[in-house]
Amino acid sequence: MSATQLYWIRNDLRVQDNHALWHARDEGNVVAAYLLTPDTWLEHDEAPAKVDFWLRNLQALKSRLEGLGIALKVLHCRTFADAPRALLDLARKIDADGIFFNEEYGIHEQRRDDNVAEAFTEASLGCRRYADQVLFMPGSLRTQEGTMYKVFSQFRKLAYQKLHDHLPECLAAPGKQSLAGVSSDTVPTEVEGFAKISREQQDLWPAGEAAAHDRLQHFAEDIMGEYKELRDQPARDGTSCLSAYLTSGVLSPRQCLHAAIAANRGEFDSGNTGAVTWISELLWREFYRHILVCYPRVSRSQAFRPETEAVPWRKDSEGLAAWQEGRTGIPIVDAAMRQLLATGWMHNRLRMVSAMFLTKNLLIDWREGERWFMQHLIDGDLASNNGGWQWSASTGTDSVPYFRVFNPVTQSRRFDPDGEFIRTWIPELRHLDAKQIHEPPAGDLFEATEYPRPIVDIGETRKRAIATFKSLGEQS
Ligand SMILES: Cc1cc2nc3c(=O)[nH]c(=O)nc-3n(C[C@H](O)[C@H](O)[C@H](O)COP(=O)(O)OP(=O)(O)OC[C@H]3O[C@@H](n4cnc5c(N)ncnc54)[C@H](O)[C@@H]3O)c2cc1C
Repeated sequence: MSATQLYWIRNDLRVQDNHALWHARDEGNVVAAYLLTPDTWLEHDEAPAKVDFWLRNLQALKSRLEGLGIALKVLHCRTFADAPRALLDLARKIDADGIFFNEEYGIHEQRRDDNVAEAFTEASLGCRRYADQVLFMPGSLRTQEGTMYKVFSQFRKLAYQKLHDHLPECLAAPGKQSLAGVSSDTVPTEVEGFAKISREQQDLWPAGEAAAHDRLQHFAEDIMGEYKELRDQPARDGTSCLSAYLTSGVLSPRQCLHAAIAANRGEFDSGNTGAVTWISELLWREFYRHILVCYPRVSRSQAFRPETEAVPWRKDSEGLAAWQEGRTGIPIVDAAMRQLLATGWMHNRLRMVSAMFLTKNLLIDWREGERWFMQHLIDGDLASNNGGWQWSASTGTDSVPYFRVFNPVTQSRRFDPDGEFIRTWIPELRHLDAKQIHEPPAGDLFEATEYPRPIVDIGETRKRAIATFKSLGEQS
């Protein structure tokens, strides 16, 4: 009889192209386990929408696993610190030879996993870890001098070279096994401490690998060709909306890469510009994972550029609340923030615009924005969120220069020319024409509607931000 192996599910909620699952099955019969750790999730500012997405995908995964004869155990813990004991107890109960899991890259996740590995080794059980949520193991791409990359374009150049040398393949789903006398547990639909998500919001993000692949296929076949032209227009269906699936591992980056390559006649750095641009975005995701691992200070809430720790960020609780609630009086910013609250997602162009408004026009610490995004994003991802915030705040690696402050009104006119996106999210402004909607005229409007006046003067606050950063003296 073959040995039993424990496969620990985390942000890899799929059966296809899953390294830990595939290798565990290759070594014997598998029992899968998922740990609920709500206290740590709260500490990490995980969004209720994301926790709900995890649970719904876990339910879908349970059906797929059962179809393969694999039982799913759901372990109720409180924190990451409970993981070694809970997993070891289960391993003993099912008489497992060892545990298999895919690497996660935050420092708390790494510490948790090291502790689990240690506990299993001490108990004379095996522990196998796999790089799965990336195309390249973080830290494996280095400059000729052996140092870690800090500039995306150079990182991408080597990534292209590596992909030419060897294109990572997708693994198949593991083969079916005969049930090993272990029954599956019930997957909860809610976890204490996280608000319930409306059916309307859930319907925007259908769970399961099949739904994720439908979305990927639709994007690759019908949208990707025009991605370069459409990706900056929030009113258009111009991006993949796959980030939640990638973050929770319902899809792998290899599956995305292969879908794009297939639609681009086998090419990834030439051919259709839409495909090439999209693949480049997947590499930004890789880049930020490399930064997270190679420069652990960013995982500890520190600025990548140490000199920017001296920025005298303003304490402005009213400004922060207005930004969070979408009532700054700057329509494109408010529309974006309302989209986030209603859907758990925000368009990339608007993430940059709203992040820059908070950090430059309001001069509020980027960490406040990073936390708020994490608490509300269904795709909240430590590496990409931190990377995006530090890029916008000019505190990060390869970030926007401090003197290039986006003017939100100009951005609005350029990327939402008809005001369609603003009208969707700010009904108070629906009656305004395409000219007025980006910067509602002062006067009657504010008395006639509940829409607020701008809380800051865009021009003055831009000057203040530039002067503040300039005074640090060390910016590029
Ligand atoms: C302030 C700020 C915060 C962000 N927070 C997150 C976050 O928490 N989680 C997250 O996944 N992305 C984050 N991003 C990156 C980006 O905005 C989202 O990945 C993108 O909007 C998701 O939509 P999509 O799936 O339609 O992307 P597409 O345009 O279809 O791109 C495909 C995939 O590439 C990756 N990607 C695209 N752009 C970026 C980028 N700039 N950085 C890293 N990866 C990228 C994502 O996995 C995305 O799903 C942030 C960006 C900014 C400026």
